[in-house]
Amino acid sequence: MTTATEHRPQSHRRDNPTTAVDRLLVVLLGLAAIFAIAPAASGYVLQGCKFASSVTPSVVYEENSLTTDVASAVSAAQGQWDVHTGSTTYFVAGSGDANIEINDGDYGNTAWVAQWSYGCSGGYYTSDEGNMNFNLYHTWSYDSYELQVVATHEFGHAYGLGHNSDGCGSWWQNVMQAGPDKFTCSGGAPPWTDDVNGWDYLY
Ligand SMILES: [Zn+2]
Repeated sequence: MTTATEHRPQSHRRDNPTTAVDRLLVVLLGLAAIFAIAPAASGYVLQGCKFASSVTPSVVYEENSLTTDVASAVSAAQGQWDVHTGSTTYFVAGSGDANIEINDGDYGNTAWVAQWSYGCSGGYYTSDEGNMNFNLYHTWSYDSYELQVVATHEFGHAYGLGHNSDGCGSWWQNVMQAGPDKFTCSGGAPPWTDDVNGWDYLY
């Protein structure tokens, strides 16, 4: 195998110690400026559990008699994740012993609109399944885009991303923020840059 990586000769660094020090100073000043401007910025949060690499990149999800609205949202959400992570096969619709079982129903006035539940051992999901549930009691009044955003958020959990409190407006804009504020973020349909950064870290 040939690897076309371009290495800078080590002697270059030894011959120019001042350059290296200057570069370090610039980096430190740059970081200081970033923190001064946006002290509250954080970014994606890891959930602490994810699919094993033997499962990805073909995580199978099964839709169990979903209503049309939820089914459309799920399809759109998995499509957006695939687009932004550079594949068309990370989430694949299937049946039987699927990795993700998706259900919807009127579960009443719960504190959650949708949820992802799973078993975890050693940082990886146990058995083959996680469960993604949508509560129609809450989602019936959502428009199609809002429901898609919710589904994108749930797939983010399925990948292994946890909640954060990052709002709209910059690189830390994140579909994994809890609550409805994410519906009004600009930048097109999620996932957004920082969500994909989280995915890149996980897989
Ligand atoms: Zn959530």
